Amino acid sequence: MIHYTIEELLENNQAWVAEKLALNPEFFNELGAGQSPPYLYVGCSDSRMPLTQYTQTEPGEIFVHRNIANQVSLTDINFLSILDYAIANLKVQHIIVCGHYGCGGIEAALEGNTTGLVDNWVNPIRELYIQKQLEIDSLPTREEKINRLAELNVIAQVKNLYQTSILRKCMRENNAPDIHGWVLNLKTGLIQDMQVKSSEWDLISPSCELEENVT
Ligand SMILES: [Zn+2]
Repeated sequence: MIHYTIEELLENNQAWVAEKLALNPEFFNELGAGQSPPYLYVGCSDSRMPLTQYTQTEPGEIFVHRNIANQVSLTDINFLSILDYAIANLKVQHIIVCGHYGCGGIEAALEGNTTGLVDNWVNPIRELYIQKQLEIDSLPTREEKINRLAELNVIAQVKNLYQTSILRKCMRENNAPDIHGWVLNLKTGLIQDMQVKSSEWDLISPSCELEENVT
């Protein structure tokens, strides 16, 4: 893998700008005019996870929130601000939660062998592992265990999204964006859609409707 120097990064930037302008002289004028991205991406901070490259999307197409092991934390004011802004102001039509195989955060949650703040951050995933321990421990290899927990984590984070007050409000008003749970295989570069059914997490239960009828 090439590791550029800082000077080379700036040279790369100039080359990229020249390339974009050659294709479309208005490219940066258009970017400067504002953003209306259709997608919010909730991904892992891992350096191998820039979704734009895997999906051949351009600046202006994906609004991004990334953290270790792509978690949707109901107490993370940074994430909740992004979610609220993406829905209320940018009016994104899709939210993509994308995890990946070989995730260091998932590994830390599964094996509990790091000695830093990451341990605290991935604790909800460790709880998830404990819930699903029978299934995960039955897998023959360490790699399969880590990858299965990465898949289950994506499903859990989609569920967490539906549990935010922001999404629940959208669901009541019937203008919720579509939510997708994806896992990227770094060994192939391919994305797998986990086909998470939104109805599974539908919190507009009869009791909620009753509550609305009463008020
Ligand atoms: Zn990761």
